[in-house]
Amino acid sequence: MDFLRSLGINDDNPGACFGNTEYSSTTDAGQVESINPSTGEVIGRVWSASEADYEKVMAKAVEVAAEWRTVPAPQRGEAIRLCTEALRQHKDALGSLVSLEMGKIKAEGDGEVQEMIDIGDFAVGQSRMLYGNTMHSERPLHRMYEQWHPLGVVGVISAFNFPVAVWAWNSFLAAICGNATVWKPSPKGALCCVAVQNICNTALEDGGFPPIFLSFIEDGNALAERFVDDRRVALMSFTGSTAVGRQVGERVAARMGKSLLELGGNNALILDASADLKMAIPGIVFGAVGTAGQRCTTTRRLFVHDSIFDEVKSILADAYGQVRIGNPLDASTLMGPLTDAASVARYEAAVAAAVEAGGEVLFGGKAIDGPGFFVEPALIVAQNDWDIVQDETFAPILYVIPFSDLDDAIGMQNDVKQGLSSAIFTNDIRNAERFLAATGSDCGIANVNIGTSGAEIGGAFGGEKETGGGRESGSDAWKAYMRRQTNTINWGSELPLAQGIKFDL
Ligand code: NAD
Repeated sequence: MDFLRSLGINDDNPGACFGNTEYSSTTDAGQVESINPSTGEVIGRVWSASEADYEKVMAKAVEVAAEWRTVPAPQRGEAIRLCTEALRQHKDALGSLVSLEMGKIKAEGDGEVQEMIDIGDFAVGQSRMLYGNTMHSERPLHRMYEQWHPLGVVGVISAFNFPVAVWAWNSFLAAICGNATVWKPSPKGALCCVAVQNICNTALEDGGFPPIFLSFIEDGNALAERFVDDRRVALMSFTGSTAVGRQVGERVAARMGKSLLELGGNNALILDASADLKMAIPGIVFGAVGTAGQRCTTTRRLFVHDSIFDEVKSILADAYGQVRIGNPLDASTLMGPLTDAASVARYEAAVAAAVEAGGEVLFGGKAIDGPGFFVEPALIVAQNDWDIVQDETFAPILYVIPFSDLDDAIGMQNDVKQGLSSAIFTNDIRNAERFLAATGSDCGIANVNIGTSGAEIGGAFGGEKETGGGRESGSDAWKAYMRRQTNTINWGSELPLAQGIKFDL
């Protein structure tokens, strides 16, 4: 495929990048196979990084971070502007690779690259706005203010389902904040990592910038665990499942490091009696079946008011029948495959558990015979307190649950361990405000007349409870990549103490 070559992908892809165009030549630590989830076939191979590669990556990152923190922030922004321009030029090819390797449809693959471009543009502007506050000192002839300094080395461990955007959310903000970034991608996104490093690091080198973006790729978790425990990593930004994220969070806390956790979701959408179904139905279907239900913000639970429950069930079952499943690179496809055979097995087990608990399958529920890891999107009438409904199954399964009172619906929505994304479709301003109030949705994202999935980069992205509490992307998320320092300056000739304390010698 020509687009692979245009991204610098060939038969001999290195497993570690020491920055800009310097790569590992290790060939004795095994290989990571990149599998096309639509066919089960191998797309390409990447050499695994060795322990020596890891050490070289980390040593280089520490060295580069020490230099990069002295570069003025607007100049750091210029480096990201060049990366963003390079991504614009490669958008079509990189979007195709995301679609091929991850299995999301081409429009979503392109959308993911657009997200990288958007956060790049955002980071360029932010590089001139790393603002601190000034405060009025209680002491005469004193000035007090705060400033933000770089952290050093930022680690990024990313999930398979957003193989390029998550890196950009983190690395572009980390870069303008004066840090070097070391990236450990999901092995399922190995080729995406190679391509992104090729694009951005060539742009850095051409622009005369130091090698601030480094990476290593491995098949297992041995180096990843060493990475999590590595005191040289000042901030570990982890995106993935709650099970792994919990271990990462605990291990980073044990060494008193900082972590930024973006973990699983169990997102719900509430349809009240006044909802505009013309808007709501496409929002629900995109939210539940888009990316084959493999977005952290995928709609997994749908609460429908009793008065429209039967109508909504039948409209949704009809709409599900129109979802075209197939090759994600085909322009007419709306839903691609799951990522691997284990995910298909988890999908089948979840459907079986829901049926066992008394669920009524309105649509789908079966794996599709043939090559690749395709399943039918499933629509199941269920109850919120069933164990299977309480869990995040990373697949296109939507549990439909009736309610009669909005307070009950909000209560059920919040009655799960996760707290990422939520939405209400309503034309009733009181219900909208009720949902957004402090007593309403407990999620990091709460939308009105918009589905749960598909966030813009301008807002802070992340969730509460077992979703991990981290925030990335817009608003003031940049602060996570810096350390705050409070400075008090005495420009008088006395030494008054705070709180009026007298200490006369
Ligand atoms: P995962 O937890 O299996 O893997 C995530 C990353 O952790 C991968 O790079 C993996 O190689 C690495 N990893 C695995 N074991 C590790 C260990 N012991 N130490 C260090 N690293 C380790 O998740 P996944 O299947 O790739 O992604 C799906 C999950 O990610 C879902 O739960 C989804 O909700 C979540 N996710 C969350 C967000 C968010 O922003 N909240 C975004 C995307 C995905």
